[in-house]
Amino acid sequence: METETVNSVVPSLVGDQIYTDCIQLVRMDSEVVETCCRATESGRLGREDCVRLLRFDADSDESSLIIDTADRMMRGRNGNTCSIGVQIGVITGPCIADCGFCGFAVSTTRADDYVMPSHVLRQYLEHVTAYDDVESVSLMTIHNFDFDDLMELVDTAVEAVPDHVSICVNTGDVSPEEARELKGAGVRRAYHSLRIDEGDDTRLNPSDRFATIRTLASAGIDVMTCVEPIGPEHTAGEIVDGFLRARDSGCRRCSAGRRVDVPGTRMYGMGEITQRRLEQIRSVLFLSSLHDGFYGGYYGGFDLDYAEYAGSPRDIADYSELNNGNTVEAVRRRLFARGFGTVRCGDGRLVALDEAYLRETGS
Ligand code: SF4
Repeated sequence: METETVNSVVPSLVGDQIYTDCIQLVRMDSEVVETCCRATESGRLGREDCVRLLRFDADSDESSLIIDTADRMMRGRNGNTCSIGVQIGVITGPCIADCGFCGFAVSTTRADDYVMPSHVLRQYLEHVTAYDDVESVSLMTIHNFDFDDLMELVDTAVEAVPDHVSICVNTGDVSPEEARELKGAGVRRAYHSLRIDEGDDTRLNPSDRFATIRTLASAGIDVMTCVEPIGPEHTAGEIVDGFLRARDSGCRRCSAGRRVDVPGTRMYGMGEITQRRLEQIRSVLFLSSLHDGFYGGYYGGFDLDYAEYAGSPRDIADYSELNNGNTVEAVRRRLFARGFGTVRCGDGRLVALDEAYLRETGS
């Protein structure tokens, strides 16, 4: 491969690293190199490009190039800043959607019905916003939730956090009136997904999920979605089609998430994709949508990471923060370890993410 070509592929390669990277580049599939170049130049990739990139083994040199290219594009675009989100399970317990992968599925769960009291939510919010570096808070419920209970909790959250912290909801299906009420109460975003095997692994009707996405978007709420929960059995084509479907359905952003093998669930033992495979998937989808920034959202990785408090579908403990330890402090540590130097807040403030800040915030 010509040196000129190598430099145009990976413009930021410098120093001693360049020799090793050049050797890798000449060994790998030239079409992948060309596709990565095309993505960085045009900001777009078609369905077949994505499927082809996803067929490479996650541990291959080709996959490394895809992941590195996406990482460099992301950091270049946002000045190496990152954001922190928080998810709080506010209404949890046996869920009639009975998703085969979820710790709340009614046929397998041992969880009890729980509605978080407002004063408990306030305590969580005081803790996670104590250093005013959290960009958004998502209130999560199971599918069968009481709308009045949710509204009370939304009101509590809107009142408790600074105005620049976006309040999001992650709920079961809602009606147009309910969506308008949520918007009126101050909800800015909603997470809602049409799952990759909706209707097979879940007891929900895909068209109801799709209708709720439309309903929320029509009410003026930004809908974030995700191609999830991806397991080892899902093909490259299924993953890419899920991403393209999300774009057509009116969602604002779409990410990719893997299925977690939760003990006791119906699908326990079906396995998980590796973190590396997930990075590859996220990178391909990110590169395919550079032109409009469609890839992203809560569960998207890259520059946005999130903490989990109280009940979580991916955890059988009542208080996920005590089990998984995925706290806001852990998120700061993770983002710092990934090399981000600044936290981007909802009001545009930039907070230096360094060792002193980790100490100051007890992270
Ligand atoms: S993933 Fe959500 S909708 Fe499905 S069972 Fe769990 S809480 Fe209910």
